[in-house]
Amino acid sequence: MAITIDSDSAHTQEISAAAVARLRSVLVGEVITPRDDGYEQHRRVWNGSIDRHPALIARCADVDDVRAALRFGRDHRLPVAVRGGGHSFPGLSTGDGALVIDLRRMNRVRVDPDARVAGAQAGLLLGELDAATQDYGLAVPAGIVSHTGLAGLTLGGGIGWIQRKFGLTADSLLSADVVTADGEFVRASEDENPDLFWGLRGGGGNFGVVTDFRFRLHPLGPQVMAGATFWPMDQAAAVLRHHRDWIADCPDELMTLVVQRLAPPLPVVPAELVGRPVVAVAACFAGDVQEGERVLRPMRDFGSPVLDLFGSKPFLAHQQMFDPSFRHGCWYYVRSCDVAELSDDVIDIVVEHGRRISSPLSSIALWQMGGAVGRVGEDETAFNGRSAGFTFNINGNTATADGFDEQRQWARDYWSALAPFHTGVYVNFLMEEGEARVRQAYGAAKYERLRALKRTYDPANTFRLNQNIPPD
Ligand SMILES: Cc1cc2nc3c(=O)[nH]c(=O)nc-3n(C[C@H](O)[C@H](O)[C@H](O)COP(=O)(O)OP(=O)(O)OC[C@H]3O[C@@H](n4cnc5c(N)ncnc54)[C@H](O)[C@@H]3O)c2cc1C
Repeated sequence: MAITIDSDSAHTQEISAAAVARLRSVLVGEVITPRDDGYEQHRRVWNGSIDRHPALIARCADVDDVRAALRFGRDHRLPVAVRGGGHSFPGLSTGDGALVIDLRRMNRVRVDPDARVAGAQAGLLLGELDAATQDYGLAVPAGIVSHTGLAGLTLGGGIGWIQRKFGLTADSLLSADVVTADGEFVRASEDENPDLFWGLRGGGGNFGVVTDFRFRLHPLGPQVMAGATFWPMDQAAAVLRHHRDWIADCPDELMTLVVQRLAPPLPVVPAELVGRPVVAVAACFAGDVQEGERVLRPMRDFGSPVLDLFGSKPFLAHQQMFDPSFRHGCWYYVRSCDVAELSDDVIDIVVEHGRRISSPLSSIALWQMGGAVGRVGEDETAFNGRSAGFTFNINGNTATADGFDEQRQWARDYWSALAPFHTGVYVNFLMEEGEARVRQAYGAAKYERLRALKRTYDPANTFRLNQNIPPD
């Protein structure tokens, strides 16, 4: 029996059962079609609002599997989606009628503590990499939710708790192994294919399927001073102003996130606080714990907090602090922008729109940038936004479809109010917002350089289910 797919509006075709069987026979991993048990489970991505039906899911186990799957996609003219952790906000790692190259089975880590280098296969989640490296008191700077995929995050740049001390995830990248659209295996590093290496550090999944990364490791913890202090939302103006002054000349070890939300129903949150609007300053101090205590004290002591969760804790635990707030399968919508500074005008907008949060899952995170991120030259990597002061991540979220439109509108309104202060946007925090926004994320000059690179490595735009940089 054949599988009929409609991979795009102009092109309907059938994949024969024999062709699927042939692919199965060459793959070490699995092939999952809509007829197979497990299709429902494996077609799903983290964002529950994305409901797409790929034609095939190739759960690759090694590089040869990736090459075979890509060949199959080309022979059957299927759109190709590449999936690491499946956390693309707009669900770009799946597609109706697409071939999904799912790398989740490729999740081995190799840590060389003497050389301070980690090898990481592209299907790893951040928490898996952290667990392996923290065994040696080492870390790769990465994101703040442990179930996020390493591959998509690294290829867009990678911002997180220790970025101001150690830079972006991409800044610690030493090399990447890539299968290109024509099935060629190439390594990219400062010495081999440096043009591709430049593009992979921020240019997303535009140039090929990364199968393996090598990262430089940094000493960290395993104990760090970290956590969050909460105040009632009606103190947000004063808290934000104090935060702005407090971080004005803070050390690189400190990274903060200002959060607005309804206090979540977690064991650490007193019952009487749950559901009340709060503003929080969350932070991690990537250095000596006593020094962290001293640096954090003036913020924790400010005003009349309703909850203080700071303390010395394993970095691994801190990396999971936000995990319960971003569960798989809920409905997520994000708007994002960078701003240069927390001016009084910006703070006024934050205060006004924070008050309107009405979903227990909606929130904003205001990321403190700078430090080591800003000291890498703007042209050294494809990542754009080295000079950003702060990055807004405005999440209009719900548990199900119920109420989602309203939350999405809240996020849009918040973002629009900030429009006079937008300086750019982090590509990994985009929804599907069109080519102009992708261009804006990279800036005109970098976008053109990425386009030229795309013409070299993927002239047919095989990899277009991403924040796409079309070759022409
Ligand atoms: C809950 C949550 C928390 C987040 N926190 C952070 C954070 O702290 N810091 C941060 O910087 N970002 C963060 N992000 C954004 C995150 O960086 C992106 O969503 C990223 O795409 C996730 O990577 P993934 O592998 O899980 O995504 P996937 O959905 O699997 O992939 C996203 C895209 O990446 C590309 N891709 C994935 N794997 C490969 C590969 N092996 N080779 C080539 N291309 C590939 C593809 O183009 C794909 O469309 C977060 C996202 C979520 C949902």
